[in-house]
Amino acid sequence: MKKFDWIQSEIKNMKANGLYKTIRTIQSAQGAWLMVDGKRVLNFCSNNYLGLANHPKLVAAAREIALKYGVGPAAVRTIAGTLDLHLELEKRMSVFKKVDSVITFQSGFAANLGTIQALVGKEDVIFSDELNHASIIDGCRLSGARIARYSHSNPNNLEEVIKENEGTYRRALIITDGVFSMDGDIAPLDELFKVANVHDILLMVDDAHGEGVLGKGGRGIVDHFNLHGKVDIEIGTFSKAFGVVGGAVAGNPIIIDWLRQNGRPFLFSSAATAPDVAACLAAIDLLESSTELVDRLWENTHYFKSEMSHLGFDMGQSATPIIPVMLGEASLAQEFSTELFNLGIFGTPIWFPTVPKGKARIRVMISATHSHEDLDLGLEGFAKVGKGLGIIH
Ligand code: PMP
Repeated sequence: MKKFDWIQSEIKNMKANGLYKTIRTIQSAQGAWLMVDGKRVLNFCSNNYLGLANHPKLVAAAREIALKYGVGPAAVRTIAGTLDLHLELEKRMSVFKKVDSVITFQSGFAANLGTIQALVGKEDVIFSDELNHASIIDGCRLSGARIARYSHSNPNNLEEVIKENEGTYRRALIITDGVFSMDGDIAPLDELFKVANVHDILLMVDDAHGEGVLGKGGRGIVDHFNLHGKVDIEIGTFSKAFGVVGGAVAGNPIIIDWLRQNGRPFLFSSAATAPDVAACLAAIDLLESSTELVDRLWENTHYFKSEMSHLGFDMGQSATPIIPVMLGEASLAQEFSTELFNLGIFGTPIWFPTVPKGKARIRVMISATHSHEDLDLGLEGFAKVGKGLGIIH
């Protein structure tokens, strides 16, 4: 039918330009090893930093609460969807993160959308890092505020952009990713805070990849920089290190109260399910009881990175368990990934528009669940494919 012509032609173009994604299917529980498209492979793709996605304590908590509360929330939080469990999770998160107040959302994406829209509008401006995550970008667009980008992780440029915009707005908001999801570098939050403070502008950080990873026992980027009480809004997600699904906003009680009244995904989308919330609570129990998993994650990260660096791979600016193996062209990243997969190693290629053109890569995600043997097997595979394709010698 004619009405579909444009989509067909766009898809054809994507395929011709090597930009069409083939999505693989996982047929097993999360972990260091997965069944993918019928093959058992070593997993370097998941955000399951601490291995909690299939941890027996989380699974037991979810199962137990499902028997008591069922599986569906049956309402949005403000109508009849707020469970005692949601409030418990918000309280436990605020203690874990050492903040005064927390509100939870259904995902990190929803938390970013809801928060940004509630804080700024048409007459306002958002100072946004040029490499911020898509959910921040969409939140900025939905808010209707003017978006003034500053150069990546550059507080001096942020200062310049603020000065250029002085007197042109009603309210302002500075937003940065904490750990940048495609490069694994850490935002200079201490320096950004200084700029925000001088200009009395709200500062918001998306700690999706910092929670459970950075700071003492995985308390996140604010703890990493010891900026407690200084960063106004911390967005978090339960879908990565916490191993479940859901989002959180931590900060000043005034902001959290405002979000309870005005956060649109909170008001208009059904609440997180009881089994999810119970599993998140079990994740906090684990994180509070020991730093073992976080420590192992970092040991694995340091080992893998140092060996990859000896092999001669370019890993960009990574300072975290997110390790981009830089390859350049999308077609090369796809070929690299296919050859890895043939060797039983699952490493997803990432290319435009997720990263800029010419900066395609395999993004390796390290987990506490990787054993030393797993890491060595992965390194062997990267060395073999890298040499075969002439990327290393
Ligand atoms: N922010 C960042 C930086 C992310 O990487 C992601 C997930 N890709 C999100 C937010 C969204 O989190 P969620 O998956 O919980 O929606």
